[in-house]
Formats: sequence, structure tokens, C-alpha cells
Amino acid sequence: MSRTPDEWIGKTDDTPIPQRVRLRVFNRAGGRCHICGRKIAAGEYWECDHVIALCNDGENREDNLSPACCNCCRPKTARDVSEKSKVNKKRLKHLGIRPRHRRPMPGSRESGIRKRMDGTVERWD
Ligand SMILES: [Zn+2]
Repeated sequence: MSRTPDEWIGKTDDTPIPQRVRLRVFNRAGGRCHICGRKIAAGEYWECDHVIALCNDGENREDNLSPACCNCCRPKTARDVSEKSKVNKKRLKHLGIRPRHRRPMPGSRESGIRKRMDGTVERWD
């Protein structure tokens, strides 16, 4: 009698993927890299890649894992990170949160200094 094993779900995003789960992920994908579709050779280095990266709200669970060969897992990680910073930037812009200029124009709103009509200078924030 065979039973289907329960799907593995990491307790936290940092929970390492157990060996048996790596094996299941590998077998489910037919031993192919999910990015380039190339067959991963025996003994070749490969990673359990999160299809939706954890930093992009992907989950640390078996469903979200696929094998990626060593050629693919690195560029994808870089892409995931840049995607995240792009999304973040848009979000910040949308919410009107802007970084302060490092060298604000003197006398501008961002300089933090205000000169009154009578000539007195005061700080404000
Ligand atoms: Zn690949």
C-alpha cells in the first residue's frame, strides 16, 4: 500500500528544506530545471528554487519549490531582488514617501531651514 506523503510546509521562511523534500521536488519536476528546462545531470549542483521568491511573498512550501540548475538559480535570485526593489520603489512613490536629498538646495523646503520675512532664520521639520 502506498500513501501520498503530506506536502511539506516550512515552519518559517528560514526553515531549511529537508533532503526527502528535495528528492520529491526533483522527482516531481522529472529532474529538469524549471527555468531552462534542461535535465539536471547526476551529481550536478542544483538548488530548490522558490518559484515565487520568498521576498516577493512566496511561501516556503513544497508547492512553491522547483529544481533550478546552477546556471539558473543565481540570475533568478538577482532578478527577484531587483523585482522587489522595483515594487518597493513604486509603492513608496505611490504613498508619497521620498528619500531626503543628501544635499538639499539651500533655502528649499528640504533644507530644514526657513528664513522669515523679518530676516530671522529658524529650523523646522
Ligand atoms: Zn536551468
